[in-house]
Amino acid sequence: MTECPTCAASVANDEKIVGEIFPCPDCGTELEVLTTAPFAVETAPKEAEDWGE
Ligand SMILES: [Zn+2]
Repeated sequence: MTECPTCAASVANDEKIVGEIFPCPDCGTELEVLTTAPFAVETAPKEAEDWGE
């Protein structure tokens, strides 16, 4: 269990693997698994998404 770096919600290590990118269950920010023991995540680097402006 760790915290989302964006919203501080608890994030469980639900059989995730290092390097996996998943959305925070609370705020939806994409998080990347840094290590699994201890479980640590970081905000995933944002690729240019659909900024249609
Ligand atoms: Zn979050």
